[in-house]
Amino acid sequence: MTKAATTAVCERGERYRPFLVSRVGNADPLDRALDALRTGADPVAALDELDAALQASGDPQGLYGALRGVRDPSTATGIESSVPGESLYLCPTERCSRYWLPDGPGPAPQCALSEAPLRRRKL
Ligand SMILES: [Zn+2]
Repeated sequence: MTKAATTAVCERGERYRPFLVSRVGNADPLDRALDALRTGADPVAALDELDAALQASGDPQGLYGALRGVRDPSTATGIESSVPGESLYLCPTERCSRYWLPDGPGPAPQCALSEAPLRRRKL
């Protein structure tokens, strides 16, 4: 669950920021979750706090409710059957299970944890 929640923060962190700022005036719960994840501290309390803050701000799914939409590459089908030579992009922190398959030209998305773009890996 923590890894899935980490993935959600990596994928959606920068979308949560303006949402929290507009609703409660600051993104402190997000920053505390990011700090915990970046420093390697136990992030569970901070992730719980972010989940509660999102729900209190009017996002009924919160952080954990949104996990249904997060894919885990270890269980995802389709990666193995991808065209050889196609690129897979993985989170540069290697601490979450986010991945991204390019669907056209354009820059790779950024990881909210490291603020670095996802890293390319040849299949
Ligand atoms: Zn990440």
